[in-house]
Amino acid sequence: MSTLDQLLRPDLRGRTAYGAPQLDVPVRLNTNENSYDVPAEVVDAVVAGVAEVAGSLNRYPDREFTALREDLAAYLSATSGVPVAPDQVWAGNGSNEVLLHLLQAFGGQGRTALGFTPAYSMHPIITRTVGTTWVDGLRGVQGGGVFDLDPEGVATQVAEHRPHLVFLCSPNNPTGTSLGLDVVRAAYEAAPDAIVVVDEAYAEFARPGTPSALTLLEGRERLVVTRTMSKAFALAGGRLGYLAATPELSDALRLVRMPYHLSAPTQAVARAALAHAGALLATVEVIKGQRDRIVAELAAMGLEPVPSDANFVLFGGLEDERATWQALLDEGILVRDVGLAHYLRVTAGTPAETDAFLAAMGRLAPTHRQEQSA
Ligand code: PMP
Repeated sequence: MSTLDQLLRPDLRGRTAYGAPQLDVPVRLNTNENSYDVPAEVVDAVVAGVAEVAGSLNRYPDREFTALREDLAAYLSATSGVPVAPDQVWAGNGSNEVLLHLLQAFGGQGRTALGFTPAYSMHPIITRTVGTTWVDGLRGVQGGGVFDLDPEGVATQVAEHRPHLVFLCSPNNPTGTSLGLDVVRAAYEAAPDAIVVVDEAYAEFARPGTPSALTLLEGRERLVVTRTMSKAFALAGGRLGYLAATPELSDALRLVRMPYHLSAPTQAVARAALAHAGALLATVEVIKGQRDRIVAELAAMGLEPVPSDANFVLFGGLEDERATWQALLDEGILVRDVGLAHYLRVTAGTPAETDAFLAAMGRLAPTHRQEQSA
């Protein structure tokens, strides 16, 4: 009899699953959630929304999530200044599912997706679940930062690998850096046959003047911008991600989604949250303030934080990032080891959480800092 491992698809054998630790500690700053609880007025609206659909849970939900699409399109139009129509919008159970739909529709066996590591760790994982080949592109710009991407570097790599999908991430997880629109344009033009996905999960946290790739959608039928309600909207538990693209591209995703993939409660919860966007997004400015404070104070400790447009900060200059991760955990503070030597990533939380993190780092920095080479 075969072992389960022999029965498993060969390309999945030996792979490790996504596994950010979910530990019950006082200060959880490892998965870039919004640390603020959902405000009471939004809780009431969510409960009322779910109550309204509860009596008809015997029926399948609206498969086309029509009202939710309208609300998402209105939110994107109002915040980006770019008119987005409801038929341009697609949604899923988290933007991870939206990314899966894109890969199911445009990737698959014999096809290739290109991303620029370090970026969101789920891009390669989701890519491989549908048998698509993942290609790790390189970052780093002469005279710029090691994590920067420039139009030339992106265009050269896209032209070389001729991928079926290109993944860009802006602001990028885990580095926090945003991309210029010139980089998105370069990727699009260098890949005349590729779907170009710009993952903007953290767009709401970007510093003023940071452009969204939504402004490039007009006239670009292969461009997709993905967003999520898991971060700025404080709705990670609600599982609602979405994208904007051409109506034709959004329509194509109906070929791969499971029927009724967005449950009636999911649609109701997301709609209640969107109706109270102001109350939910009120925390964004405080979080941005904490993020900038983390960058400034870690730099003052002699560490190397990367300036961020997201709700987290990647910081380097650590002798042994695993030892620092453990030392912080011993103080009840959970941050993220993203697998980059000498770096850790911390989510910007409430001022009290930031105080706890910075106080601990202040104590640890003198002994955990990397020795400066002479
Ligand atoms: N994109 C990026 C860049 C992310 O960091 C995350 C979550 N960490 C996601 C997408 C997925 O989030 P969700 O599925 O909750 O929308």
